[in-house]
Amino acid sequence: MYGMKPDRHGMVCCPFHSDSDPSMKLNDTYYYCFGCGANGDAIDLTAKLF
Ligand SMILES: [Zn+2]
Repeated sequence: MYGMKPDRHGMVCCPFHSDSDPSMKLNDTYYYCFGCGANGDAIDLTAKLF
């Protein structure tokens, strides 16, 4: 969604810090970044990206 392609574990590269390996868990209801600790719900993420 939104141009981010989760891998089979639902992980994507975090847009909030310089991420070389996917460290953000993303699904339909929430996201959480294991790298920088960013988290919120999917609506939150969309709002922050755009
Ligand atoms: Zn991050």
